[in-house]
Amino acid sequence: MILRVDPSITAELSQYGGDTAVKCFNCGNCTAACSLTNQESVFPRRYIRYIQLGLKDKMIGSLDPWLCYYCGDCSETCPRQAQPGKLMMASRRWLISMYDWTGLSRLMYRHEWVEVVMLALVALLVLALFTIPANFGFRLLAQHPEALRTVNLSDFAPKEVVHWGDIALASLLGFLLLSNAARMVFHVRRHAAGGAGWAFLAELREFVIEGFTQRRWRDCETGAGKHWLRHLLLVTAYGAMFCLVVVFLRWFQVENTSFHWSSLLGYYSTLVLMGATLGIMSDRLKKREQIHKDSDLADWLFVILLFLTGLSGIALHLARLLDLPLTTYVLYTVHLMIAVSMLTVEVPFGKWSHLFYRPLAMYLQAVEARRQHSAIPAGATRAPVTV
Ligand code: SF4
Ligand code: SF4
Repeated sequence: MILRVDPSITAELSQYGGDTAVKCFNCGNCTAACSLTNQESVFPRRYIRYIQLGLKDKMIGSLDPWLCYYCGDCSETCPRQAQPGKLMMASRRWLISMYDWTGLSRLMYRHEWVEVVMLALVALLVLALFTIPANFGFRLLAQHPEALRTVNLSDFAPKEVVHWGDIALASLLGFLLLSNAARMVFHVRRHAAGGAGWAFLAELREFVIEGFTQRRWRDCETGAGKHWLRHLLLVTAYGAMFCLVVVFLRWFQVENTSFHWSSLLGYYSTLVLMGATLGIMSDRLKKREQIHKDSDLADWLFVILLFLTGLSGIALHLARLLDLPLTTYVLYTVHLMIAVSMLTVEVPFGKWSHLFYRPLAMYLQAVEARRQHSAIPAGATRAPVTV
């Protein structure tokens, strides 16, 4: 394998928030401090060395940044203040932009205003959908004046249209995320040895379990329990919300306010969204933990959008209970403007994509470990890996 050197990589990574790689003198303290490293993955020192040497191909094909949960333990022990944890975080952003074939992630991470513009454009598109077509949204109300006397969401946003809109959005996001994930697999497996075919099947379990639980996070030493539990609750809230809008919409978006068991999923999601996002914002403001000391606009936007999605959902629900028709329709539109722009921008291009990439990385690592293990002749031992 020919290794190409790209000396501009350190400057490039600084545009993603990682400008301290040059300070590292490769002592290995960070790797020794990290409780997630093992024989197969000796990060973050190894990855920082790739950055310093400009080994772009190695960087793109490495899983190391995804195996880091950004607890910050390594940054506390670095004698050079090279902030290895933050470098791993910046590397994840850089990798996301390398996997993304549209180039939008790259633009978003390098120029913060691009993310704001993208969010605003999608929100305006949603607003246009509710104001321009004659048979939908505010113009449909003209055909159903009774919907202005009492709340009737189906006279404002017919369930079938919303349902197919949900499916179209989920399909678009799925396509973007999966096509980018396919590029990730290509880069990671490009130079891998063959003979791992059956391991791909055998390790699928790892992908599913890690995707739902992110259980390795609990092995971090600092704040792992709190962050892991908060993350797990958020994942269950996303799952519940997905089921509501894609599977159970016809019971969730009902004309009257009578109770249906699916409403419990809505209450649960909203409660978790509000609690978790308030907790995250509080931690970011306090800046006590290493991982909260350097929050940039992208980190804030993500959590603020999640919070606003929950808040507008609560306001919408109250307006329906109080039977305030026009307020309900306006809040419904605002709620979708926030939620759809957040989903469209964050899931395939932004921070949310790590929910897919990290379990995929764990899976690919498990596949490779199984392949290597089966390739070792009986009785032989593997050479130790240096940190
Ligand atoms: S502890 Fe700091 S100086 Fe040492 S290898 Fe890690 S990042 Fe480099
Ligand atoms: S931030 Fe935590 S998980 Fe990531 S490399 Fe450092 S010690 Fe390991």
